[in-house]
Amino acid sequence: MAAGIPNPEVKYTQLFINNEFVNAESGKTFPTLNPATGEQICQVQEADKMDVDKAVKAAKEAFKLGSPWRTMDASERGHLLYKLADLMERDREYLASLETLDNGKPFSDAYTIDLDLSIKCIRYYAGYADKNHGKTIPLDGKYLCYTRHEPVGVCGQIIPWNFPLLMQAWKLGPALAMGNCVVMKLAEQTPLTGLYVCSLIKEAGFPAGVVNVLAGFGPTAGAAISEHMDIDKVAFTGSTEVGHIIQQAAGRTNLKKVTLELGGKSPLIVLDDADLDTAVEMAHFALFFNQGQCCCAGSRLMVQEGIYDKFVEKAAARAKDRKVGNPFDKVEQGPQVDEEQFNKVLGYIKSGIDEGANLRAGGAKWGDKGFFVQPTVFSDVTDDMKICREEIFGPVQVIQKFSTVEEVIERANKNNYGLAAAVFTNNLNNATYLSNSLRAGTVWVNCYDALHSQAPFGGYKMSGIGRELGEYGLEAYTEVKTVTIAITEKNS
Ligand code: NAP
Ligand code: MG
Repeated sequence: MAAGIPNPEVKYTQLFINNEFVNAESGKTFPTLNPATGEQICQVQEADKMDVDKAVKAAKEAFKLGSPWRTMDASERGHLLYKLADLMERDREYLASLETLDNGKPFSDAYTIDLDLSIKCIRYYAGYADKNHGKTIPLDGKYLCYTRHEPVGVCGQIIPWNFPLLMQAWKLGPALAMGNCVVMKLAEQTPLTGLYVCSLIKEAGFPAGVVNVLAGFGPTAGAAISEHMDIDKVAFTGSTEVGHIIQQAAGRTNLKKVTLELGGKSPLIVLDDADLDTAVEMAHFALFFNQGQCCCAGSRLMVQEGIYDKFVEKAAARAKDRKVGNPFDKVEQGPQVDEEQFNKVLGYIKSGIDEGANLRAGGAKWGDKGFFVQPTVFSDVTDDMKICREEIFGPVQVIQKFSTVEEVIERANKNNYGLAAAVFTNNLNNATYLSNSLRAGTVWVNCYDALHSQAPFGGYKMSGIGRELGEYGLEAYTEVKTVTIAITEKNS
């Protein structure tokens, strides 16, 4: 693994429209901070409605029939994506360093996980560019009927701050492979890596206007995207609260297609017969990875009564052992992304204490600068407590006890979310029965966060609409056109 560059030079802070870096129309800028110190890294151009309009105009132009993008062979589109992935690989150490500086995640995670998965995702979809076939359909009567999988058009994409590069790759990969054009808004907390990738998009040779990327705030730039009459589809990853706003905006305006990847409160169930040490370590990883800022974090840990006491003891010891500190050092945990999230997490910790949960580890901020939170463990958590019902999005493990398989299914499914779930057991029957019974878009058995480009990901219930990744992920970026041709049979 590369060593990391603790002070990477910031090269791009402007908006990327029509293959050019430009200032915001308003001339406004906003600061992006280093969450490890709370200090400003630099000012970034702030997009609002005027810039969204400009970006949409460029994307519409690039999507016109006869344009270089629309007349390009599908295999060539794939080739451009492969080039982009190669350029990300070339600049991997720099990109991982910039991600660490802006987001606060440990450099080792950024380099080995975020960059690895982002590059693989772009390559995975590059291969799909010329492989999304339609069908021929045997109609009654004399017809030739076939379907074409066509691009949807101009796609608005709004991404969050927890995995800036990876969420950008999840969105760009399938959209571009299928021939769409994109207007993307980066999260205001973490705009730097997404803007750098724009320079690679240009270097790879994508035609102007195919990808447009803006930095800015949700209520202005984000809202302008979700309300835009010339955007055909919007894809959003973030909170369920903003998911509601986006779907309403689409409903009020042009009924653009909406896919949403929202929050979760994913149950991680450990049965008495599970391998105890493996389950403790995986449950630790499932919650604390990425400072607990994962939509699919295993944030309701439900442990069967036979091993409960031993499990809690080991989980607390593991959390106390977790190495927190400067994300450019050899650490497991960096700071939360910003002060707002830091305060929100501390607020949940206070509510856990106030509501009578048993604090086993952590419980306070860490250090005296930046937005660090101690790895925190609560046991004896009951279903009605706020820390059990709501998404904390921080390093706070919530442990509950259960007795029977039927009971745990009912309690696990009671939540409004349904993004992911996990089961730890060596009993095949229970593993299958539980996987079938849990209402979640992904169920992991004896593993966690096994997220790969090839497998679909998305939520039941209030965790979202639609699926990303895998072959299923193409559906959101294609329209199905049915072509029916009458056949006149002539003998002459
Ligand atoms: P958020 O508000 O949902 O932000 C996600 C993205 O949506 C950002 O780019 C944000 O812009 C944008 N946005 C905000 N308001 C919008 C609007 N009215 N129209 C269009 N876009 C809008 O998430 P957050 O405030 O950063 O975090 C709050 C909570 O969301 C977290 O505690 C966590 O529970 C959840 N979350 C989930 C995920 C996930 O992966 N599913 C990721 C991040 C957060 P800004 O730049 O203005 O923020
Ligand atoms: Mg930042």
